[in-house]
Amino acid sequence: MTIDGPGPSVRSPEQPSAAHDPTGSMTGSDAADVVVVGGGVSGLVCARDLHDAGLTVVVLEASHRLGGRVLTQHTPGAEPIELGAQWVADSHHQLQALLTRHGLRLRRPPRHGRVVHLDDAGRRTLPAWRAPFASLTLLQSLDFLVATARLSLRTRQHPKDADIHISAAQWLDGACRTAAGRQLLGSSLEASACLPATDISLAWVLDEFRRCGGLSRLSDTEQQVVVGGLGALVDCLAAPLDIRLDQSANRLRRTGTQWQIDTANGTLACDHVVVATAPAATETLLPSAGDPQRKPGAVLKVVARYPRPFWRDSGRSGTATNVRTAAVVTGTVDAGYADPGSDGHLIGFVTGRSAQRLAGRPAAEQRSAVLDDLVRLHGPAAREPLHLVVHDWSQETWSPGGYTWPAPPGAALSRRRVQGVQLAGSEHADRWPGFVEGAVQAGHAAAAVIADIGNSPPASW
Ligand SMILES: Cc1cc2nc3c(=O)[nH]c(=O)nc-3n(C[C@H](O)[C@H](O)[C@H](O)COP(=O)(O)OP(=O)(O)OC[C@H]3O[C@@H](n4cnc5c(N)ncnc54)[C@H](O)[C@@H]3O)c2cc1C
Repeated sequence: MTIDGPGPSVRSPEQPSAAHDPTGSMTGSDAADVVVVGGGVSGLVCARDLHDAGLTVVVLEASHRLGGRVLTQHTPGAEPIELGAQWVADSHHQLQALLTRHGLRLRRPPRHGRVVHLDDAGRRTLPAWRAPFASLTLLQSLDFLVATARLSLRTRQHPKDADIHISAAQWLDGACRTAAGRQLLGSSLEASACLPATDISLAWVLDEFRRCGGLSRLSDTEQQVVVGGLGALVDCLAAPLDIRLDQSANRLRRTGTQWQIDTANGTLACDHVVVATAPAATETLLPSAGDPQRKPGAVLKVVARYPRPFWRDSGRSGTATNVRTAAVVTGTVDAGYADPGSDGHLIGFVTGRSAQRLAGRPAAEQRSAVLDDLVRLHGPAAREPLHLVVHDWSQETWSPGGYTWPAPPGAALSRRRVQGVQLAGSEHADRWPGFVEGAVQAGHAAAAVIADIGNSPPASW
């Protein structure tokens, strides 16, 4: 068994540009039409659109690698594994269009079989449709369904001002009649926000669900994966671009009609700036945008590779939900190939309160807690993975936290515009914020404003 951290991202057949400089020194020109701050998917999509439209573009990336919350690890002789974003939903149209444009394919991991449900009473295997209600009586199930329907109805309206000041937990207290119904709905909110329901505003939940097309779409996004990993998309986008790694943008200054961007290695001048970072960095760079005290949450992603998908032997799909009070791995899913001779490839997540407890703990402690829960969920065969990675996103310097950045109670949802600066980044997307689809959409949208490019497909579900 090996347990390790991220390796290098794959390089696509396209070669990096000469200015793609991993040493951190300011190479290339110190002036450009546009500087894009942040080399995650959103910044790269934006930079690539602008480059393809004939503008000179520099991408400043604070980290030693591109991709941000996309992180594909390569191990010789095995399929790449995704330590960050992985799933592409059928309704992620702009991302799918981009993958096709770069010759990348999607595959659909198998989902047949019974699922595992683990709660304080023990472990059960059930048909998939039964799983959400496995711990609930009929009355508690009805309570959960009514509260879920009320939440769904409210997502169709814009959040009211009062919703900003109410936490999701407070709303659940009023909306649910039973503790079990409240606990189930609360834990699914926590799993998607990577924060306790007390720390997220109702307004954020409603706005997020609305922009993702409703609760039902959000609950079924783990549909397809990119063959070769999402890192291949990052590499394809970056190939012709002038990328400056290890160069954090520290300050933006307006001088006349130009912007000056200070980094530790020098100053860049440009006509337009695109800030494509996660919200906390945006707030530091652009305090006047009033980016409202977003909270990052915490998530640990678990990837466990086995000699074979042993869970399929007994008709199980690999999907498991863990709602034990002391849960560590809150759920797993099979990301392998349908071919019965293929490796077993389980993905797990530690989210919400469980992640807050485990985040930043020593690696050996995290591994042992994760393995214990994999065994609770999938039996003794889960104890011996060929390869196990536990990636603690709370410890990332430049993309820290969970999947996205929820607004806590009291924080406004919108930002003020800053003249001459475009905001990209998934959290700024009209559709699918917090997903790679949102990152793509926000990147295209920021580029379109600067270069008046109309090449992105219309935003749709
Ligand atoms: C564990 C995990 C699993 C996920 N799973 C999925 C999934 O299955 N499907 C899905 O669609 N989404 C998933 N997501 C969410 C998805 O990864 C993000 O929505 C998306 O990648 C965000 O892209 P971005 O470019 O907007 O931001 P980021 O990826 O955060 O990129 C921002 C970049 O800005 C850089 N930066 C920050 N500050 C500065 C600075 N001052 N100067 C220069 N550069 C700076 C950062 O280093 C980073 O590279 C997941 C996220 C995580 C953490």
